[in-house]
Amino acid sequence: MNRHEHSLRQAQDKAVENLREKGYRLTPQRLLILSVVAESGVHMGVDEVFRLSKKAYPYMDIATVYRTLHLFKGLDVMTEVAIGDRLHYELTDLGGRHHHMVCQICHNAFNLNPHYLEEFRRALMQEFGFEPDLENFTVSGTCSECQSKHPEA
Ligand SMILES: [Zn+2]
Ligand SMILES: [Zn+2]
Repeated sequence: MNRHEHSLRQAQDKAVENLREKGYRLTPQRLLILSVVAESGVHMGVDEVFRLSKKAYPYMDIATVYRTLHLFKGLDVMTEVAIGDRLHYELTDLGGRHHHMVCQICHNAFNLNPHYLEEFRRALMQEFGFEPDLENFTVSGTCSECQSKHPEA
């Protein structure tokens, strides 16, 4: 089992459990959307999820995709990431939250381990007595690939 299969399995187990607790069923459409996001292993926009799930199931409609992503988010199976002005979805990181670095050129999002922000948090608390809410913290910038393609950026 590779890493994506493994995280898909974990996400499925969690989804089934959470859905059942709240009285929902894991329907084939919901399962499809879950596996599309899990297999990608990246952050996906709604239209991308729609495109890929429609390929596997031609009767899929965008409203179902929206509803399902929203449902999974509410169950903490998926995490919503704002990239630019668009929302993206990824499987909730079972190892704990992570932050994101978002490239302003290619709009890719890269995961950032929260330990990088621990010192920042401590400094704000110590110097200003300010408790930062870093839950949805993203850093925007230019990724290494785009820097080499556009050295002037
Ligand atoms: Zn980039
Ligand atoms: Zn992420």
